[in-house]
Amino acid sequence: MIDVKGLKKRFGNNEVLKGISTSIKKGEVIAVIGPSGSGKSTFLRCLNLLETHDEGYIKIEGKDIKEMELHLRKKIGMVFQHFNLFPHLTVLENVTFAPQQVLKISKSEAEKEALDLLKTVGLSDKANSYPSNLSGGQKQRVAIARALAMKPEVMLFDEPTSALDPEMVKEVLQVMKNLVKLGMTMVIVTHEMGFAKEVADRVLFMDDGKLVEDQVPGIFFENPKTDRAKAFLEKVL
Ligand code: ADP
Ligand code: MG
Repeated sequence: MIDVKGLKKRFGNNEVLKGISTSIKKGEVIAVIGPSGSGKSTFLRCLNLLETHDEGYIKIEGKDIKEMELHLRKKIGMVFQHFNLFPHLTVLENVTFAPQQVLKISKSEAEKEALDLLKTVGLSDKANSYPSNLSGGQKQRVAIARALAMKPEVMLFDEPTSALDPEMVKEVLQVMKNLVKLGMTMVIVTHEMGFAKEVADRVLFMDDGKLVEDQVPGIFFENPKTDRAKAFLEKVL
């Protein structure tokens, strides 16, 4: 579904992606892990055209993403560490905004679908609340519902639980596990190693702008090939 070849990205003189190649099949769940500054967020942002890469290509279902801007945004949903909800809109309005504006769905249809999605993430009772009245875990679940409202074929998550208090991590991971069960294709940057081990089909380990290991979790966590992955795992496990 997604094909990445020789992907390079520079910020000024700083080459932060140094030739990433991998491919992701429909329905696969990919965990991206690695030290801070290794390029994980930049990689995700390139997949969603929030950054434009300098060399190499990203193809989605055979089409180069540089040729598909708005069309692509409908296919790829993204959830960020810091939620990025619209503070002046209610939960329901946050979820219905893009479907109405971008997909041109009627307000009543968008609201019907949004209420279903809020039910899925366990927030039916918060439809008319504002983000400032929600906990971090609730905000993140709204952000997930909002991304799903665009009916994406792929969901990207950039450290979705890193800004949450420990007691809220579980409720967000549970919503993500439910998405896995539904067969959603997901790319998840995470520091939750237990979660990665449990749900990922493959682990991509990044270090210094390079994809150092691309492996099934059983092998990656038990028997990493590279010293860099070993050193990283010793620190975080
Ligand atoms: P990670 O998500 O693995 O922590 P990032 O992709 O955020 O890593 O960052 C990789 C490198 O790219 C870092 O050195 C960071 O400072 C740099 N970088 C990221 N975004 C920008 C930007 N918009 N402008 C300049 N440098 C950036
Ligand atoms: Mg990051």
